Amino acid sequence: MNEPRHFDLVTIGGGFAGLCAAVRGAELGLRTAVLETGTEDGYLCSSRWAGGIFHVSYHDVKLSPDKLLAAINRQTSGEADQQLAAAIAADAGRTVDWLARQGAAFTQASPVGWHRFTLAPPRAPVAGPDWQNRGPDRLLGELRRRLEERQGRLLLGTRAESLRLERGRVTGVTAHQDGEMLDVSAGAVVIADGGFPGNAELFRKYIGPRPDRVLMRHAGTAVGDGLKMAADAGAAVVGLDRFYGHLLSRDAMENKGLWPYPQIDAVATAAIVVDQRGYRILDEGLGGISITNDLAQLDDPLCATVICDAPIWDTAGKAAQIPPNPQLLAAGGTLHQADTIEALAETAGLPPQNLAATVFEHNDAVRFNRLVTLLPARSTRNGAPRRIETPPFFAIPICAGITNTMGGIAIDEHGRVKRRDGLAIAGLYAAGGTTGGLEGGGALGYVGGLIKACVFGLRAAEHAAGQCHRKENVLK
Ligand SMILES: Cc1cc2nc3c(=O)[nH]c(=O)nc-3n(C[C@H](O)[C@H](O)[C@H](O)COP(=O)(O)OP(=O)(O)OC[C@H]3O[C@@H](n4cnc5c(N)ncnc54)[C@H](O)[C@@H]3O)c2cc1C
Repeated sequence: MNEPRHFDLVTIGGGFAGLCAAVRGAELGLRTAVLETGTEDGYLCSSRWAGGIFHVSYHDVKLSPDKLLAAINRQTSGEADQQLAAAIAADAGRTVDWLARQGAAFTQASPVGWHRFTLAPPRAPVAGPDWQNRGPDRLLGELRRRLEERQGRLLLGTRAESLRLERGRVTGVTAHQDGEMLDVSAGAVVIADGGFPGNAELFRKYIGPRPDRVLMRHAGTAVGDGLKMAADAGAAVVGLDRFYGHLLSRDAMENKGLWPYPQIDAVATAAIVVDQRGYRILDEGLGGISITNDLAQLDDPLCATVICDAPIWDTAGKAAQIPPNPQLLAAGGTLHQADTIEALAETAGLPPQNLAATVFEHNDAVRFNRLVTLLPARSTRNGAPRRIETPPFFAIPICAGITNTMGGIAIDEHGRVKRRDGLAIAGLYAAGGTTGGLEGGGALGYVGGLIKACVFGLRAAEHAAGQCHRKENVLK
C-alpha cells in the first residue's frame, strides 16, 4: 500500500474537465491533484483529439446569455436541464477568457460564426486523425504546466477505482497506481473521466446490441469508471441511452485514415439512408446525430447506405470543413457511382427494384410536399430533403461513430452530483463527458463537449473552494 495523501480537491481524469477544475482550484488556493489513468505525457483522451471548436449549440460563445440559452433550448427541444443550460449560457464567454489567460490560443478557423473560438493551431482540413501539436493537445500541456506551477499534482498511471464515503460525504478516492493501491483523501472529488463511450458492456446495456459494429470515434479511454463510482455513492443518472456522434464511411471500421473525418452527415440529411433491402429505415431530416443514434440501436448498425445524386454530392457533399467530396475517395473510402438507380443498386449490392421504388417514393413525396406520408415519415428539422434525380447517382456505405455519451451522472448548476432524491452528495462533483442532463431532446441536440467540460470544471472547483474556505473560516 502506498502512503496515504491528502488534497483539498482531487479530480478523476486529466482531460479538459479535470484539468480545468484542478487549475482553477489551485488558482483559488486549494491543494489539488489530478488522477489520470494514462501513463505517458501525451496520454490519450477525447480532449486531446478534439477539433478544438468552442461553441454553444453551434453558436458563438460570446453571444449574450439569453441568446445562448435560446440556442440550447432550440437544439434540445427544451429538454435540457434549465439550471445546466443557464450555467453554460452564463459562463461560456468567461470560460474562453479564462482559458486564454491559461495560455489557450484561439483562432477563427473558418468564416462560420461559431468557429470563432477554435484552439490554434487548428487541425488540417484533411481526412483521418490529426491531433499532435494541434490546439487541444497544446492547451492540455499549458494547463498541466499551470497546475504544476501552482503546486498541483498530475498523477499519471493512476486509475481511480472507488470513492470513500463517510457518513454520506465523499472524503477520498481509492486508486490503482503501479500495481498498488493508493489511498487519497480529499475535501472534494470531481469525477471527470469522460463518460462511457469506450465500455462495450454499458453500450450494450443502454444504447444498442452491437458495440462491435459501431465505430469508436473517440480515444477509447473513457470506460464508465466514474459512472460506476457515482452510482455506488448513490448518484442519480440521466439520459444514458443517447450519444453524440457522426456518420462515417463504413470503411472507417478498418481504415484509420477515414475517421474522425470526413463526416457523411450533411449528405445523409439531404438525401436518403437505406438498409440492405433498399428501404428507408429512419428520419433523415433529424440530422446526423439522430441518424447515428438510430443506426446504433439496430441489430446490425452496419446495414446502412446513403443514396444521393450529383447535385447533392456537389453541394451537401462539399458543405463541411472536411467534406466527403472529395476527401472520402482521397482517403480510400467506397463511393459507388452509376447513371441509373438500378445500376447503382447492382454496384452497391442492393436489390435494384426495391431501391428504385424507394427513390421514386422519396422524390414523389418531396415534389408534392407529402413527407409525412413516407414510411418512416421524413421531417425537415435539421435539413430539407432533395430529390434524387440527376445522374450520376452515388451510394456511400456508412457506419455510426460514437464520439461521446450524452447522458451520465446527474449534477446541479455547481457541478455537484445529485442523489436520486435531488439533494447533492457532499464533497462530490462531476464535469464534462461523464455528466448528463444537458443534451438530448427529439433531435438529440448537442451543446458542445468542450464548453460543457470547461464550464463545469470551473464551476465545480469554484464551489469546492467556497466550501473549503468557509470551513477554514469556521475553524479559525
Ligand atoms: C474526434 C473528436 C473531435 C471532437 N471535436 C470537438 C469540437 O471541436 N468541439 C467540441 O466542443 N467538442 C469536441 N469533441 C468532444 C470533446 O472533445 C469532449 O466532449 C471533451 O473533450 C470531454 O472532455 P472530458 O475531460 O470530459 O473527457 P476526456 O477528454 O475523455 O478525459 C477523460 C480523462 O479521464 C481519464 N480517466 C478515465 N477513467 C479514469 C479513472 N478511473 N481514473 C483516472 N483517470 C481516468 C482518461 O484517461 C481521460 O484522460 C470532440 C471529440 C472527439 C473524439
